[in-house]
Amino acid sequence: MTHPPLPLVRPGGLVDQFGRVARDLRVSVTDRCNLRCTYCMPAEGLPWLPKAEMLTDEEMLRVIGVFVRDGVTQVRLTGGEPLLRRSIVELVAGIAALAPRPRIAMTTNGVGLARVAQGLADAGLDRVNVSLDTIDAETFTHLTRRDRLGDVEAGLKAAVDAGLTPVKVNAVAMRGVNDDTVSELLGWCLERGYELRFIEQMPLDAQHAWDRRDMITAEEIRARLAERYTLTPLPAAERGSAPAERFLVDGGPATVGIIASVTAPFCAACDRTRLTADGQVRNCLFSRTETDLRTPLRDGAGDDELLDLIRGEMWRKRRGHGIGDPDFVQPDRPMSAIGG
Ligand code: SAM
Repeated sequence: MTHPPLPLVRPGGLVDQFGRVARDLRVSVTDRCNLRCTYCMPAEGLPWLPKAEMLTDEEMLRVIGVFVRDGVTQVRLTGGEPLLRRSIVELVAGIAALAPRPRIAMTTNGVGLARVAQGLADAGLDRVNVSLDTIDAETFTHLTRRDRLGDVEAGLKAAVDAGLTPVKVNAVAMRGVNDDTVSELLGWCLERGYELRFIEQMPLDAQHAWDRRDMITAEEIRARLAERYTLTPLPAAERGSAPAERFLVDGGPATVGIIASVTAPFCAACDRTRLTADGQVRNCLFSRTETDLRTPLRDGAGDDELLDLIRGEMWRKRRGHGIGDPDFVQPDRPMSAIGG
């Protein structure tokens, strides 16, 4: 792949050649997961990253600090399943101690959240998104290949009790799996005060089995929800760089979000960048290339050198993810190893 040439003098901050500025850093703290969602991972799991290739807490904090000093204002911890990293509470505390202090969020499957929600909040975690595609116990077990719905429910409650609010629930709608129960899921979230967001399924599965024709589109999700609820779109101006189109439900104040990542990509407003558990910077979920920070970091690179590598990666960010392009090729790393 050919890249646009890097200008000799680049503007400061994490800008790309289309004028977007990265402010939201997603950090995958591990590629391991305790669920085996059929649309994400095979039943037997994946070849996990060897420990020696993963950034230590100290290395991760050093890199996150470089991002933060160059304009990142929000750090989202993800995975894999972020709660499987043993030092997750200490990592959050370390990020909260950075200057300037970024907002700290986490995307988790919620399985281990009940045990650690208060500790995370005390360490400085501000908000949490819990992934939950169904509240039907049988469908949950089939979909995740684990019987853990009760743990996720307990995790959600614990998140509210710990003040990690607003607690958001993320769901992927899938044909023949949960598409006929999207309204039930919304009703369940409304009753409990969770903010639900649906996301279109993207070609990021380890099995490379995604097929656009099978995907439930944002429009279909909206139509299904509208069978039971009155949805009023919130003004587009309130959206900013947020990927979800939000609707008031039955006049509000509760809302539901729908993220049309495939049918109406939000790339033009994207302010994200990513760091993988093994120290690679990715400028897009769908990048086919990445920039290695781990090697220079371990070879003694200074912060300026790391920053230069990060800025170079950002400058190469493409205009869009290109899912609809005829030459689109799914990245080698699956979602679980990039960090969703
Ligand atoms: N384990 C954590 C969790 O479950 O939230 C974090 C990692 S998980 C990969 C992050 C999110 O990506 C989950 O909400 C999951 O449903 C979503 N996801 C996984 N594969 C996806 C795909 N192909 N398209 C859209 N979302 C996907």
